[in-house]
Amino acid sequence: MNAPARPPRRLESYVCGSWTLGAKEGPALLDAATGDPVAYVDSSGLDFAAVLEHGRRAAGPKLRAMSFHDRAGMLKALGLALMAMKEEFYAESFRTGATRPDGWVDIEGGIGTMLTFASKGRRELPNSRVLTDGDVELLSKDNSFSAQHIYSPLQGVAVHINAYNFPVWGMLEKIAPTLLAGVPCVVKPASQTAYLTELVVRRIIETGILPEGALQLICGSVGDLLDHVTGQDAVTFTGSAWTGRKLKSHPAIVANSVRFTMEADSLNAAILGPDAVAGTPEFDLFVKEVAREMTSKAGQKCTAIRRVIAPRAQLEALTAALRDRLGKTALGLPDAEGTRMGPLASYEQRNEVRDRIRELQAVAEIVAGDPDAVTLRSGDAAKGAYLNPVLLCADRPFAAAAVHEVEAFGPVATLLPYDDLGEATELARMGKGSLVSSVFTDDKRVVEEVVLGVAPFHGRVMIGNRLSAKSSTGHGSPLAGLVHGGPGRAGGGEEMGGMRGVRHYMQRTAVQGAPRMLSAVTGRWIEGADTQQGVHPFRKSLAELQIGDQLVTATRVVTLEDVEHFAQFTGDTFYAHMDAEAAKANPFFDDRVAHGYLIASFAAGLFVEPNPGPVLANYGVDNLRFLTPVYFGDSLQVRLTCKEINPRANAEHGEVRWDSQITNQHGAVVAQYDVLTMVAKVWPPVAG
Ligand code: NDP
Repeated sequence: MNAPARPPRRLESYVCGSWTLGAKEGPALLDAATGDPVAYVDSSGLDFAAVLEHGRRAAGPKLRAMSFHDRAGMLKALGLALMAMKEEFYAESFRTGATRPDGWVDIEGGIGTMLTFASKGRRELPNSRVLTDGDVELLSKDNSFSAQHIYSPLQGVAVHINAYNFPVWGMLEKIAPTLLAGVPCVVKPASQTAYLTELVVRRIIETGILPEGALQLICGSVGDLLDHVTGQDAVTFTGSAWTGRKLKSHPAIVANSVRFTMEADSLNAAILGPDAVAGTPEFDLFVKEVAREMTSKAGQKCTAIRRVIAPRAQLEALTAALRDRLGKTALGLPDAEGTRMGPLASYEQRNEVRDRIRELQAVAEIVAGDPDAVTLRSGDAAKGAYLNPVLLCADRPFAAAAVHEVEAFGPVATLLPYDDLGEATELARMGKGSLVSSVFTDDKRVVEEVVLGVAPFHGRVMIGNRLSAKSSTGHGSPLAGLVHGGPGRAGGGEEMGGMRGVRHYMQRTAVQGAPRMLSAVTGRWIEGADTQQGVHPFRKSLAELQIGDQLVTATRVVTLEDVEHFAQFTGDTFYAHMDAEAAKANPFFDDRVAHGYLIASFAAGLFVEPNPGPVLANYGVDNLRFLTPVYFGDSLQVRLTCKEINPRANAEHGEVRWDSQITNQHGAVVAQYDVLTMVAKVWPPVAG
């Protein structure tokens, strides 16, 4: 049985601080499996300009006042709170036609994505409100005028217009990077499954974790909202290419150069390598993956495999294996025991998919399944939007234009035989830009040719192989840390990609000025900015330490004995340290040189303060470069400067980055690097 029927409800929008009904009842949204009405959706009468303004005024300043770590903490709290409520979301998710595994991708996949952004934000971003981009650019010989690129959050709102297929993930994967960037969101779910998104937003608002206005929801049409977007707003869209193009060319979006990210139809391909003949692990993995991609979410995934590109010699074996596997896909009520695939989201979608299959049939023949006959394990074929998997084959794939143009957004794929690898990559490229393609092979030459051949046409390429079979996340799974989006037909957009996705909601600006002024903007010490000397900075807790606190050490002469001792002690007897003749023959050295790691070790010996104190640990170095050779008799000196301070939330310590510069007796820079330490927030620690 599907979830017990309960009276349909009228969906509300959460706008301007309250839950609001549309002026009319609006159309009914039907349970995908039973046809029972679930909800009514309407947004007429809402003041959409006020919605945007509320986000900008009420939430924007509050979010921007928080640091990246504060926002990451907020996302973590929210993700954990949602995870605790997941069963309620699953119950509602069944009504969209999603089975429990489908719902897992949508619900726990979405919450997991939010938690990943929280964790990456905490680890990869500074605990500040501004991001730096790249190194300081020197613009004057005396370093009195330099430049630093920075990212700062847009001061508008991000409008996320989502597709019906992932009502939870589709929202969370977009609002997580947006909120981490410090930008409020307006979410517009696709009407068909908006009841699930509405439920999740209701629970989010109830937690009270987000500042008011950080998340607003529009259930129903967005009315004239797009007329009011400005250059400080961003619009993202997931759905059909037709709607996407229409919105992208909206006059206000064009006139105000509004950032517009589009993720639209994509004819993703999977390529079976010529080496992956029947009987190899790659052949079996390929069969499994194609069948899984066709049937998971009933093929209603933007990343699903639509084109199955395989060696002509393997076509018969592949068709038989896929026919067998697809034939075992139990279609039925999403929450019934034994169901492997649920219905499509609506009758309209099923009609649409059947129409698209007919278009494909003009150039391809059906080799498995029947679009017009429904075979069910449970449920009522007359009531639900059911469709068994359909596999087609286009024997002349280069002449089958429709296969490379028509997206049947359901459990449908087409086999395309190739005669050589060049044809295989050419066929993949005929999709004119896709979100993802995969290649299944155990041959390194095949991988190189295919990946380099198709990469410019894709946002992601997955290599299927026996070595990664156990751990692979699969063809169809976008991941928080990886870019999701594709060029050309796929919309030309890019989402997620870890912290890249956060920067989509920030403006990059080149800031020029004197170093001390640049440092004031970024909160980061740079060469030429103010420094202070006095107490050894390793004696200072985070409460006392300041950017620019500096230590200039005593000097130490490097001797032949030091180098001999280090070489024997460590076993590093590389000729440049040990053999004068060989060192002189080296184009970089005039004589034997000291080991780089000896220099770094001597530097530590010069700058550390040995007694127990607030510096708790040294957890690494960044960007270590040895710039000038050190010869016997050279004298080393270190200048250590506090560069960046990141107090850690909910902890007694934080991270401190120190600029470490080692010079010789001539003032030449011998080595340059960042020392990374953990430092106590207060010292001595407060008892209890
Ligand atoms: P649509 O493009 O019709 O809708 C996508 C989103 O845009 C929905 O939220 C929709 O809202 C909204 N929308 C539609 N018209 C406007 C408008 N004029 N102004 C503002 N927002 C608008 O796609 P569907 O969800 O109906 O799916 C249709 C087809 O798109 C599928 O069959 C499939 O081929 C493709 N698709 C592709 C996806 C991908 O990621 N590649 C994902 C989903 C669909 P509302 O629902 O209220 O109309």
